[in-house]
Amino acid sequence: MQPYAHPSDHIQLHDLLFVPLFSEAKVRERVRELGATLSQQYHNKTPLFISILSGAFVFASDLMRDFDGNCEVGFVKLSSYTGTQSSGRVQTVMGLEKDLKDRHLIVVEDIVDTGRTLHFFLDHLRSQGPASICTVTFLRKPEALAFPVQVDHAGFDIENRFVVGYGLDYEGLGRNLPGVYQLIE
Ligand code: 5GP
Repeated sequence: MQPYAHPSDHIQLHDLLFVPLFSEAKVRERVRELGATLSQQYHNKTPLFISILSGAFVFASDLMRDFDGNCEVGFVKLSSYTGTQSSGRVQTVMGLEKDLKDRHLIVVEDIVDTGRTLHFFLDHLRSQGPASICTVTFLRKPEALAFPVQVDHAGFDIENRFVVGYGLDYEGLGRNLPGVYQLIE
């Protein structure tokens, strides 16, 4: 089923209805701010952005282009989610092929929910001997946090509700929405 707009600004994806949370303009403005912050933080360094697939690919792509300076990008696929609930397990599906030793790493996540994914992944990265690690997440759900994770920069803190858009999906749909939408419960 294709997503379609209801008479109001609601969005339907499969069986669920979503309402706007952050507009495209608001998202772009905030991502530009994060890009400027990272540009200052990594002045004269060549950081390696590590984008956690699939959800962070849209955010990482904008963030990199808002980064003023030399940088590289790599991708890793991890997963702990099925449908709208965390499955409780984190699996590395596709690993990084780059040498991380002595590199300045910027881990780019779409959303930190329980923090399990990031917690697991940061442990893995630390064992590779990088020069530094910084974590940037587009969204964060402070109420859902269950793991002690280091989040250095967050785009927006949101309520503990399921969201889609700007790379985030519900059963495969919604990643191409330029803004963020929240589930109606
Ligand atoms: P965590 O490991 O922090 O519990 O969950 C992180 C991952 O779960 C995110 O990278 C994302 O893929 C998925 N996730 C968590 N909350 C949401 C949400 O509200 N919407 C969507 N689409 N995915 C979510």
